[in-house]
Amino acid sequence: MTGEGYFGRFGGFYAPEVLVYSLKELQAGYSKLSRDPGFKEELNGLLSTYAGRPTPLYCARRLSEKIGGATIYLKREDLAHTGSHKINNALGQALLAKKTGRSRIIAETGAGQHGVATATVSALLGLDCEIYMGEVDVERQKLNCYRMNLLGAKVNVVKSGSRTLKDSINEAMRDYASTSDHTHYLIGSVVGPHPYPTMVRDFQSVIGAETKDQMASATGKLPDALVACVGGGSNSIGLFHPFIDDREVQMFGAEAAGEGIDTGSHSASIVAGKEGVLHGSRTLILQDENGQVSETASVAAGLDYPAVGPEHAFLNCIGRAAYTAVTDREALSAFHLLSETEGIIPALESAHAIHLAANVARELGPDKNVVVSLSGRGDKDVDQVARLEGKS
Ligand SMILES: *Cc1c(COP(=O)(O)O)cnc(C)c1O
Repeated sequence: MTGEGYFGRFGGFYAPEVLVYSLKELQAGYSKLSRDPGFKEELNGLLSTYAGRPTPLYCARRLSEKIGGATIYLKREDLAHTGSHKINNALGQALLAKKTGRSRIIAETGAGQHGVATATVSALLGLDCEIYMGEVDVERQKLNCYRMNLLGAKVNVVKSGSRTLKDSINEAMRDYASTSDHTHYLIGSVVGPHPYPTMVRDFQSVIGAETKDQMASATGKLPDALVACVGGGSNSIGLFHPFIDDREVQMFGAEAAGEGIDTGSHSASIVAGKEGVLHGSRTLILQDENGQVSETASVAAGLDYPAVGPEHAFLNCIGRAAYTAVTDREALSAFHLLSETEGIIPALESAHAIHLAANVARELGPDKNVVVSLSGRGDKDVDQVARLEGKS
């Protein structure tokens, strides 16, 4: 199948009837504004004056020497406002909401990172903000909950089902179905029905576009390989997309292998998933033999999702990008490695990419260049790592 919103046979618009009207309006609004130079200019202004873009491209010499292969560059999304790439998409969608006459933003959040980014941009643009968060997640992430309150957002605690992310998604969709005339549903990754996978990718492509320019200045060449972690897949597709037609640039995605693929306790939907439809999109999903969505796990909350953006399912299918699963243990070791060699504490999500990048750099050998998306900073994870390692 081809056409709008499809990536090969993946993607599409498998929306519940009650959401079709709202999503069609969103498609029309985005389609119009994405071609409007004024919108682009205003968004670029906010990305630079508010979010701190362009983020640096940093040559990690001590890390590269330690690995002993290709030179590793870090795209420093950890230095963007709120500490990760999530602000790029949140700013884009919130500005879109404002320009299309919406006064209210809703979102769901698991670990709370996307909720915080959404509350942040809502405060910036003067929009009402409500975040759906499962009761279990609220317990686990009290501080992020308080952060959202500080930023002026209301947190709706979801007590249905397993009281985690997927129940929050259901609640947010229910809200959106009856409020879309004045409300925008701000989805945090390249998942969901059309237009979200395309729209979120467009907003995150600033990562790859900057990288291309910065590598040209630093080396006069394209990088030989790109590496990023893949939860829903937004920081990775943002890095990859501007290089898709540069066939000589290899692309590698790191999924979460959790305790190991064969333990069943992981979140590697490309490596271990099967085709199906979830949250409005045909993609690769972790499911049992009856098609029931599996429980997932990862030391990195941001990678803990049972599906993946449909464009990644497509890139995997045609062999344009290669996906590998990295275990909790490997990610924790990379978390220490980057901290000790470069003085940069990565998010546990990003540590998955660092581990894979080290393998890619070894494989490529000297005189080659690898760019890794350092999707976020690790301050949020320090407590958890200390506990896991028995240091607190
Ligand atoms: C949310 C998050 C991710 C995973 O999301 P993607 O959509 O796959 O990018 C990765 N890294 C960090 C720091 C995050 O907060």
